[in-house]
Parts: sequence; structure tokens; C-alpha cells
Amino acid sequence: MKTSLVSLGFLLGDKVMAAKPKKEITHHFALQCLECETIVMSLQRHSMVYCGCENYVSVDGGFDYFKAGAKDISKIKSLKVKIL
Ligand SMILES: [Zn+2]
Repeated sequence: MKTSLVSLGFLLGDKVMAAKPKKEITHHFALQCLECETIVMSLQRHSMVYCGCENYVSVDGGFDYFKAGAKDISKIKSLKVKIL
């Protein structure tokens, strides 16, 4: 009986703590710089990615949070990317 619970979580003394089931990730967000056409997408937490041109389009946060920036935000396009 305990063995099946342990496989779902971890054993702490006599208590079995069930881990939260991981939410299935089906989509991710990215930005496209309309100045240089580069699409930037952060794949890891605290991994900031830049487009490389003078507009400095950046995204950060991976799948944990979404933080974005650009010199001129009128020159960015938000994209929702489907993960297969
Ligand atoms: Zn750019």
C-alpha cells in the first residue's frame, strides 16, 4: 500500500506526502521583434534571451514566469507556440 503512494510522492517519516501532479504544458509564449524578425523564447527559469538588434526584445522566465522587454514595444509581436 505504501509503495504505491511513495511512487507518487516522497516518504517523510511515517507520513506519505503526495506530490502535486505536474501540469501538462501545451503552449509557450514568445515574442517576435518586428525590427529584425527574430523570434525569442525563454526555455528555462532566469534565462533571458535577446533578439540581438537595437530594439533589444527580450524574454525571461522559461515556463515559470513571463517577463519581457523592448526598446520600442510597438515593434514586437506576441506569439503563442503550441508544444507537440
Ligand atoms: Zn530585434
